Amino acid sequence: MLPIEIANIEITMSLLLDINSVKGFLDSEEGAALYQHALIAAQNGSVLEVGSYCGKSTVYLGAACKQAGSVLFAVDHHRGSEEHQLGEEYHDATLYDAEFGKMDSFREFRNTLARAKLEDTVVPIVAPSALTARAWTTPLAMVFIDGGHSMQAALTDFNLWSHHVIRGGLLAIHDVFPNPADGGRPPYEIWRLAQESGLFEALPLVKSLGVLKKR
Ligand code: SAH
Ligand code: MG
Repeated sequence: MLPIEIANIEITMSLLLDINSVKGFLDSEEGAALYQHALIAAQNGSVLEVGSYCGKSTVYLGAACKQAGSVLFAVDHHRGSEEHQLGEEYHDATLYDAEFGKMDSFREFRNTLARAKLEDTVVPIVAPSALTARAWTTPLAMVFIDGGHSMQAALTDFNLWSHHVIRGGLLAIHDVFPNPADGGRPPYEIWRLAQESGLFEALPLVKSLGVLKKR
């Protein structure tokens, strides 16, 4: 249980597992910020994330959705991004399915959902983001983009998902690095694009987490 200050109300974040036992790429401050935003946003509808991996961000968002009585759609093909593939920098051999010669984070993801007691709140969608979006019609109170980091992947996710966010809802983007020395640019580029579109207003960055509010 970690107390978190939002404005002047104190809320308690309760994650039903040790978050450090979940593999992933989300800093705990970023996770706490995601949780706080989702807790408020989820009062108004469902939440969707693109890029779950082993479920670290899913645990923060899912815990908030559970508390708010909302639903989290967790979209990931579970075949990994470029950097997770065999021989790449962030490859994890324990998540490699040698029989199929492909990455498979879904087994670990399900395990995380069960350990976090979130099977009653999270709907896993094991499919590419673009395929899921092709049939999507449900308005979303919050979208979290943390999928592929190529310019094409980031732009696709922004174009396909940002218009499903309801007015007053939130678009959160991970790995936003204003200084190119800190990391790759595509998530930063879509964070800028969201503001330049005039449709979103940026809240202050929390490390590399960019949260924008839809006007
Ligand atoms: N949010 C996670 C980290 C996500 S890593 C955490 O908190 O740890 C990025 C994930 O995006 C990978 O699991 C990868 O499989 C997924 N991904 C990449 N491109 C995708 C696409 N086009 N559609 C669906 N998932 C994708
Ligand atoms: Mg990320």
